[in-house]
Amino acid sequence: MVKRKTYFEDCDVLVVGGGMAGTGATFEARHWGRDLKIICVEKANIDRSGAVAQGLYAINCYMGMQWDENQPEDHVRYARNDLMGMVREDLGYDMARHVDSTVHMFDEWGLPMMKNEKTGRYLREGKWQIMIHGESYKPIVAEAAKKSADKIYNRIMITHLLMDETKENRIGGAVGFNMRTGDYYVFRAKTVIVAAGGASHIFKPRAVGEGMGRTWYAPWSNGSAYALPIAVGAKMTQMENRIVLCRFKDGYGPVGAYFLHLKTYTQNANGENYEKKWYDHTKEMVGEYIDHHPTPTCLRNHAFIKETMAGGGPIHMVTKEAFQDPHLETVGWENFLGMTVGQAVVWASQNIDPKYTNPELTTSEPYVMGSHATCSGAWVSGPEDLSPPEYFWGYNRMLTVEGLFGAGDTVGGSAHKFSSGSFTEGRLAAKAAVKYIEDQKAKDIKVSDKQCEDFKKIIYKPLENYTVGRNEITGGTVSPSYISPIQGLQRLQRIMDEYVGGIATNYMTNENMLKRGLELLEWLQEDLENIGAEDYHQLMRAWELKHRALTSQCVTEHTMFRKETRWPGYYYRGDHLKLDDENWHCLTVSRRDPKTGKFTLEKIPVYHIVDEKEKKRAS
Ligand SMILES: Cc1cc2nc3c(=O)[nH]c(=O)nc-3n(C[C@H](O)[C@H](O)[C@H](O)COP(=O)(O)OP(=O)(O)OC[C@H]3O[C@@H](n4cnc5c(N)ncnc54)[C@H](O)[C@@H]3O)c2cc1C
Repeated sequence: MVKRKTYFEDCDVLVVGGGMAGTGATFEARHWGRDLKIICVEKANIDRSGAVAQGLYAINCYMGMQWDENQPEDHVRYARNDLMGMVREDLGYDMARHVDSTVHMFDEWGLPMMKNEKTGRYLREGKWQIMIHGESYKPIVAEAAKKSADKIYNRIMITHLLMDETKENRIGGAVGFNMRTGDYYVFRAKTVIVAAGGASHIFKPRAVGEGMGRTWYAPWSNGSAYALPIAVGAKMTQMENRIVLCRFKDGYGPVGAYFLHLKTYTQNANGENYEKKWYDHTKEMVGEYIDHHPTPTCLRNHAFIKETMAGGGPIHMVTKEAFQDPHLETVGWENFLGMTVGQAVVWASQNIDPKYTNPELTTSEPYVMGSHATCSGAWVSGPEDLSPPEYFWGYNRMLTVEGLFGAGDTVGGSAHKFSSGSFTEGRLAAKAAVKYIEDQKAKDIKVSDKQCEDFKKIIYKPLENYTVGRNEITGGTVSPSYISPIQGLQRLQRIMDEYVGGIATNYMTNENMLKRGLELLEWLQEDLENIGAEDYHQLMRAWELKHRALTSQCVTEHTMFRKETRWPGYYYRGDHLKLDDENWHCLTVSRRDPKTGKFTLEKIPVYHIVDEKEKKRAS
């Protein structure tokens, strides 16, 4: 047995994940907790980690309240409309009322913001988006976090949360390992803020074989944000609300700037506006939601999917007109250079110059996240001044486990936060976490050496499985005793793809398929006990997979629970093909019992707080 070093770190605020939300949390924790010990632990290196690693070309969430461009209420209505009614308006409003101050700090910290030459305001790409030269976005926010934290640990993957042994359902910290040295790390903490990003690669991606790894959402987003809380019994919400993106084919290049700034549009292979063709059909499925403005993203996807199934593909983005304008042509290319260089390379390799050829679009495999245009994630308390009783239990952004907070992709119910909103939500969570400590809620937490030792054995087991099991291999790489992380990942992706509404079935599923999917996922979980890792990198892959598998079980349970098709274009329940507002105008909330591994689900009312407030004001 290899002896591995164990390092202990005791702290007040532990931030798991140093992406947008994690850097925001680390920064704000210092503001409110001058004397507190603040630690941020990151799986990669915070200078270039998370979904913003490569950079962005637009900050997608900025109200512009100083110029009365938008108000938080407007953003709540926008997100509600896009999500077909299903959002936590208290969380959305709370984020929106603070997001501008975050963006102003980015500006002060040196993020190059584009300005409208005539008005001097930030240059708008669309109603909510402002344009930036964002290649340096992540290093800039990382610097703020580095200056605020007592210590940033890079290259440590958190695998489990620790629980207090004196008070039930209270957090005690987290454990993980250094992926370069193999050392074991125990962080005993009074509060933990999980900010570990979304989940890609749980559904089989379109890009397989040599293209594997090319996905739209960051390939390293492995669902830790969900698996860590699920494993300790925290409640989750809207996990069925996976997202499918319409993007440039093969490179997943973003389309936002193209639609909004370049005013490009889509058409089918015959040059027709196919969206109009599917209006009556969509109305039949979802009723008046199809008449909302802007058309909800899922419904635009729906028209795309129907059109390609009807033989109208490929679908193209009409770029030839906009690219005649040299300024727009430059913007079109720069958009990729600051964010998705790969798309430019794909076009070069396929002889596509968008000035002369309209590039093809595709719909992606599904992803799970809580900060982009969808709202899967943890069920958290909202702010005191806005939240109805069902949505409030003491501390803003605290999960249903005491002392455990979330932000960004981790938090469910509050879509359209994007990079700036995630950073803002990190700030809100950190402020509440500091208050929780000040209120003496984290007193006398006990985490025994035994709890830490038990996790140590569990974490390194894949290395032992490999060391023992490889001796049984007589030829090739397939072992009778263990599966490798890549084998397990491919198995997971196929289950999700074929049974839970991936690309194999054109996003279609039903109760029978979901039941079978759950059965297969349970067997996969059994086999993951025997996963083998040949080195520390593969150990990370093993734990990423385990987190993905747990996230997938939760997604599947939620998809089975909601007996309607709320978001055609994201997935379809073939046995309940219509939107059903009478029975399902509600949020879904799940809890997995950590002892039995069984999920229970419930409906929780969705409150349209913004309009109710206004009605009251008017009456
Ligand atoms: C392709 C793409 C394009 C986008 N375009 C825009 C845009 O144009 N404008 C915009 O405003 N927003 C955009 N977004 C959204 C924005 O990037 C996200 O909303 C935001 O990054 C979410 O913040 P987060 O902190 O929750 O996750 P992330 O920023 O992804 O951070 C999560 C962090 O957790 C770390 N981590 C994960 N697991 C562990 C673990 N187990 N232990 C330790 N660390 C862990 C990760 O390495 C990562 O650093 C885009 C996102 C993507 C993927």
